[in-house]
Amino acid sequence: MSAPRPNPPMAMLAELTHRCPLACPYCSNPLELERKERELTTDEWKDIFSQAAEMGVLHVHFSGGEPASRRDLEEMVAHARDVGLYTNLITSGIGLNKRRLDALNECGLDHVQLSLQGVDSEMADWVGGYKGGFDRKMQVAEWIGEIGFPLTLNAVMHKKNFDRLDETIAIALDMGARRLEVATVQFHGWAAKNRAALMPTREQAKQARLTVNEARKRLEGVLVIDYVPADHHSDYPKPCMGGWASTGINIAPDGAVLPCHAAHTIKSLKFDKAHEKPLKEIWYDSDAFNAFRGFEWMQEPCRSCELKTKDFGGCRCQAMAIAGDAAATDPVCIKSPLHDELVRQAEADSEADADLVYRVMPT
Ligand code: SF4
Ligand code: SF4
Repeated sequence: MSAPRPNPPMAMLAELTHRCPLACPYCSNPLELERKERELTTDEWKDIFSQAAEMGVLHVHFSGGEPASRRDLEEMVAHARDVGLYTNLITSGIGLNKRRLDALNECGLDHVQLSLQGVDSEMADWVGGYKGGFDRKMQVAEWIGEIGFPLTLNAVMHKKNFDRLDETIAIALDMGARRLEVATVQFHGWAAKNRAALMPTREQAKQARLTVNEARKRLEGVLVIDYVPADHHSDYPKPCMGGWASTGINIAPDGAVLPCHAAHTIKSLKFDKAHEKPLKEIWYDSDAFNAFRGFEWMQEPCRSCELKTKDFGGCRCQAMAIAGDAAATDPVCIKSPLHDELVRQAEADSEADADLVYRVMPT
């Protein structure tokens, strides 16, 4: 029995560029970053947004790298708005000024998601590898508030900053954010290189949940807090992306169309390029997008597990990274034969005292 035909994707993550002034050691971009010369042109992106709207995509998230590194960002936002997409800008704030924010407002930008590398300049500039970044970000946050963009603050939490979660929540309130994403670091991309520097302890993960739950009650109606837990300290995996190729579609800077930002690590799959094939055809008919839809591809213990309709067997990229087989049960799951080894390694990484390895662009 083959998988039923999926619905169209609801959201598109448009990774306009891998360029970024910051060098975060947990960046989800791949280790082989794309150079500017390989990025899609303005017209190619505009065509992709038109196709996305036509096939039923509702939201486009302008991401990167730092999307403000593209001088044509405003033109692309205006086009996405014109074709009826809800537009969200995911930014570190570096590369934006008041003039550009005003222009984005005039283009119809709907929402801004600002990343936070730390709660003060000492921590933020160290983690982001960019001196002066924190002060600049605070200034950008002020302009965002003046213009009145709805704001989400995104804080990646890890061993070195989990103990300052209360201050992170306070900054979100000070900025007037409507939503805070407390996202425990996910070990893909550059974060996988930094496991020993970033893996939170089991105690930190437990405390974070308590802090989030307390803050959610205290700030009900004021601030919505989304929480991505530390899955290396969990017994069951998250329903990664709501199931492979089911709700979201990612476009990498070179046009590669992916079901999630880490899918390129599954080398057995061939991902088509958005400027070479219609998006609709890639979404519905490509082998890569159909590889893990439905349940037929599953192995035991997932295949006969009653939770498979809830978590879809977890993350395919994590299965690839740890089990060496993208169709294996996510090793986060307590039923995986690799779970005990994953926990042992996570405990060892959380106790280690390692330096940060910063993200670097190729020269
Ligand atoms: S995680 Fe850091 S380095 Fe990566 S794109 Fe975001 S701000 Fe830039
Ligand atoms: S065995 Fe598979 S489907 Fe069952 S809980 Fe574990 S990951 Fe989920």
